[in-house]
Amino acid sequence: MLVLGVESSCDETGVALYDSAYGLLAHALYSQIAMHNAYGGVVPELASRDHIRRVLPLTRQVLAESGRTLADIDGIAYTQGPGLAGALLVGAGMARALAFALNIPAVGVHHLEGHMLSPLISDTPPEFPFVALLVSGGHTQLMRVSGVGRYTLLGETLDDAAGEAFDKTAQLLGLGYPGGPALSALAATGDAQRFSLPRPMLNSGDFDFSFSGLKTAVLTLVRKVGLGEAADIAAAFQRAAVEVLVSKSLAACAHSGATRLVVAGGVGANAHLRERLTRDAAARGISVFYPRLEFCTDNGAMIAYAGAQRLVSQQNSPPAQADLTFAVKPRWELATLDAV
Ligand code: ATP
Ligand code: MG
Ligand code: FE
Repeated sequence: MLVLGVESSCDETGVALYDSAYGLLAHALYSQIAMHNAYGGVVPELASRDHIRRVLPLTRQVLAESGRTLADIDGIAYTQGPGLAGALLVGAGMARALAFALNIPAVGVHHLEGHMLSPLISDTPPEFPFVALLVSGGHTQLMRVSGVGRYTLLGETLDDAAGEAFDKTAQLLGLGYPGGPALSALAATGDAQRFSLPRPMLNSGDFDFSFSGLKTAVLTLVRKVGLGEAADIAAAFQRAAVEVLVSKSLAACAHSGATRLVVAGGVGANAHLRERLTRDAAARGISVFYPRLEFCTDNGAMIAYAGAQRLVSQQNSPPAQADLTFAVKPRWELATLDAV
């Protein structure tokens, strides 16, 4: 089954073609980061308008790259939420209209399910069950995953998401938006031992996180020592954040009896996190699975993949009545999804 995937929840337009028999055929991405950078964050109205400009050219691009035509597509998956309402509507409207015109099914995908299953787009995917650490720009969650759509929340952040903490700290250090990758690059040149920062909730005995205090501690430190020490501050921040993420993830695996840990979301691209997690997990007999680097942040491939799991399972049920109405879900709990 050939599935077109469309992602438009925030500031990246992503389109991909995934074949349930042959795997990922093509994917294309347009990032709006440069456009939003001047504002220090995503401007929702500008984001929606830009998705409109990009989504069809990207669709033509993936079709051309994989030597397919619209007539070859068997189903369409689009991000239905959570995300910016206007941005979501662009992908949902395009996907629904195209599916109606081609008389094929369309399915709304949960953006975080896309992230969480992205490490499965691989020749050697992890088997279920596993524990998933979802560390993105808007979410930080530990989930127990026993199958597609079978998610139990173990814990989550009580305030800022991990990516948000990287971005806000990067902003404090004058690194622009989104500053996660820049902060990580700067940290690699710094001395993480020079300053000591708190490890919020490290010993709280649960699987919840808190990152806003860490960000405030950085602010206090910057006020005291100035920006001349930015590399050492970045390294200290990164080490503190990563230590909490690693420790809680391994505790969640122990609690669940899991020997597989899946990491997903933008912060999953962080080299220090990958190095620490892989090392400490191996010492406990746990294998860690990451998405390809390009699939850590938002992309169409993860939506095509997650949508394909659902569309394939619906293949033999009677076709739903053609319906042109649709709704996006700017807020949507992952644990409420139907199991496949
Ligand atoms: P959500 O998926 O929760 O709605 P989002 O889609 O904005 O949020 P992602 O695209 O998964 O989030 O990830 C973006 C985040 O990842 C940003 O906060 C960015 O700074 C962070 N990030 C990307 N690369 C790195 C890195 N190498 N180190 C740390 N953070 C990173
Ligand atoms: Mg983004
Ligand atoms: Fe995302």
